Amino acid sequence: MSNEVMCISSYVCSGFVGNRCGMIILDHFQIQGIFVLTTHFSNHTQYKHLGGSCMLEADIKSIFEATSANSLDKDMKYIITGYFPSSALVDITIEKVKEYKQKGIFFLCDPILGDDGRLYTKPEVKESMKKLVLYADLITPNATELECLSDQKVNSVNDALQACSVLHNKGVKTIIVTSINDGDDIILLCSFYKQTDVNKNFKVKIHRLKGFFTGVGDTFTYTLFAWIKQGVPIPNAVNRTISTLQTIIKNTTGTDEINLIHSTQFLKSTDELFTLEYLN
Ligand code: ADP
Ligand code: MG
Ligand code: MG
Repeated sequence: MSNEVMCISSYVCSGFVGNRCGMIILDHFQIQGIFVLTTHFSNHTQYKHLGGSCMLEADIKSIFEATSANSLDKDMKYIITGYFPSSALVDITIEKVKEYKQKGIFFLCDPILGDDGRLYTKPEVKESMKKLVLYADLITPNATELECLSDQKVNSVNDALQACSVLHNKGVKTIIVTSINDGDDIILLCSFYKQTDVNKNFKVKIHRLKGFFTGVGDTFTYTLFAWIKQGVPIPNAVNRTISTLQTIIKNTTGTDEINLIHSTQFLKSTDELFTLEYLN
């Protein structure tokens, strides 16, 4: 067995965000990964109290170096990035991504910065993230993150399409905007750099379930990745992922942390319950 993917994101002792979420999902799909942790936090950053610390530049550098020196990355075909607590860690990752991209590795960047118009990372991270996404084959921002990356307001699907075209023009290939607020609904939008018969832009209307849930974005990215890796086309992979997410959210009582451990039986569901609307 060999490592097929490297995942660079946070670790929390309690809860299901970042790489903690990624480990559960990729394990479930039997995808072997190298998990590089950017934090060792007690919990996600929205809690009143936060314990633990961020990884230092030297830690990540030495992990990258030893991983390559031991050839643990020799069969790696994908790299996924998520939460970064500092711009220094993003900048080191950019160098590593550049190196791997030269070997033809697919780069999925979840540009975690904030939500609902508010940042939950330092402003410096936003500036570095703008550089990191330029190397991505696929990015999965929410509307707030798309605004940050494009410097454009995103209040509607049309705004989002314009913001996506700004990023496509800079080299970002495929963009899945995971949520744009639309009254009682959430709109997901997928925008391709170049539309073809197979890659046609589409949107999906998702009824908003009551509550605010953490870990949904991470679950989206890792589950979507698992399907794409199996060769499932993006529209079907998105449909399966959001169908599974609805089940997980409904299986979560109250709000906040999703009930991921008790929902693993839904992760590999091939149900495609949503109607995709293709755009002209
Ligand atoms: P992030 O945590 O990155 O902001 P999103 O809020 O965009 O992630 O959510 C990712 C996906 O999770 C959405 O595309 C949607 O399928 C699902 N989702 C999130 N919140 C809800 C909700 N309140 N009701 C229904 N689906 C949701
Ligand atoms: Mg959100
Ligand atoms: Mg997200």
